[in-house]
Amino acid sequence: MVRGYEVVIGLETHAELSTNSKIYCDCKNQFGLEVNSQVCPICMGMPGALPTLNETVVDYAIKMGHALNCNINRVCKQDRKNYFYPDLPKAYQISQAEVPLCENGYVDILVDGEERRIGITRIHIEEDAGKLLHSDKFDGCSLVDLNRCGVPLIEIVSEPDMRSSAEAKAYLETLKSILQYLDICDCKMQEGSIRCDVNVSVHKPGEPMGTRSEMKNVNSFSAAVRGIDFEVNRQIDILENGGTIDQETRRWDDVKGESVSMRSKEDAQDYRYFPEPDLLTIVVDKDRVNNLKAEIPELPNAKILRYVKEYNLPQKEATFIAESVELAKLFDDCLAKDKYPAKSYSVWLLGDLVKYLNETGKNLSDTMINADNLTELVGLIENKTISNAGGKKIFAVILKEAKDVNKLVDELGLAQVSDIGLLEKIANEVLAANEKSVNDFKNGKTNALGFLVGQCMKASKGKANPGMMKEIISKKLEEI
Ligand SMILES: [Zn+2]
Repeated sequence: MVRGYEVVIGLETHAELSTNSKIYCDCKNQFGLEVNSQVCPICMGMPGALPTLNETVVDYAIKMGHALNCNINRVCKQDRKNYFYPDLPKAYQISQAEVPLCENGYVDILVDGEERRIGITRIHIEEDAGKLLHSDKFDGCSLVDLNRCGVPLIEIVSEPDMRSSAEAKAYLETLKSILQYLDICDCKMQEGSIRCDVNVSVHKPGEPMGTRSEMKNVNSFSAAVRGIDFEVNRQIDILENGGTIDQETRRWDDVKGESVSMRSKEDAQDYRYFPEPDLLTIVVDKDRVNNLKAEIPELPNAKILRYVKEYNLPQKEATFIAESVELAKLFDDCLAKDKYPAKSYSVWLLGDLVKYLNETGKNLSDTMINADNLTELVGLIENKTISNAGGKKIFAVILKEAKDVNKLVDELGLAQVSDIGLLEKIANEVLAANEKSVNDFKNGKTNALGFLVGQCMKASKGKANPGMMKEIISKKLEEI
């Protein structure tokens, strides 16, 4: 509820599929290549050029359908969606109208520790359009790059089941991590690999749903949150002032932090959909659908539940690890070796590792950390060969360099001294040299113990096993 109004949000999310080639031709599907270098008569829409469907696109979309608990329509067709825009040379986009490849699914999301189920209306396959380039250098003209024409997309349409911008964000993050787990989209937000259109309406509780506006150009999840919050307040302001909401398409301007009207919303008939005559009906074999289902890995939600249940991780920590394919794989691989408690690995993942990745903007795969060196490091700490502080020093090195953990213990001189004889010798020397502190302790100043242990650590150049050192000093003080 916002200012006494219920908020209703539905999202249309476009994800670029990471196939090698485009959806209807064999041009390369790769971001960032020279402008207009990845084009051919088919994706440029030359008259007479005929499309051929890339079957990997169908497989990828079916996988997403399975992951979102959809029914898979084994027989479906493709349709032309007609509209005029300079980035669309054919003046139509091949999409799917009435019968999408996948429909009637759902996905569970976690918001503030609570599970919410969001309906998935449909997932269909379609082609992307080109990209307009605007610059002062072009003498007041806009240029067009057609490399993106024909890049395969899936459009995932949700039911209007979300009630706040926080739920919308959680939904988008869940979709993103599923796409990553399925390895069907590179999910590079800055390259536009995931984009969404946001449908928002507001109404008073108990009253019918309000008129919705559609907001385009939402290019990040944080922009989605800002856009939704802005739009909700804009609509409430209008209603509170006695106005009515127009059904329209608006464009989100993230720099200005406001949405502006683009055009009154088109209805489906404005697109004059009709079956694509140049492509055959899609017919997918039942075995193929089942085999694709068998390829779906354990998905993030299932992982979160498992981490909480099996390893006793707090849900927030479990979610953080499970939402990243890379972190979850590292965590699972370490635990597959199954020697030490899950917590002894998760502290590294959630602490020093994430801090480093955030600071450098790198991915886990850019570092040298792997299950082998991390389990080795954890082992050295758990069996008290090195201290936790020493572990941090080694971790900082193996983030960047492929060095042997055991050799680093020697190189950095981090081995803890756990030899009782040696520790007792240090203790005796420190006690003899600090008579005043010994007397203080005897007179009830218990914090003198900490000082004496500290002196021992210093005398050992930080290498003494601190737990053992404390024990020895305590015992000796009792005896004095
Ligand atoms: Zn092409």
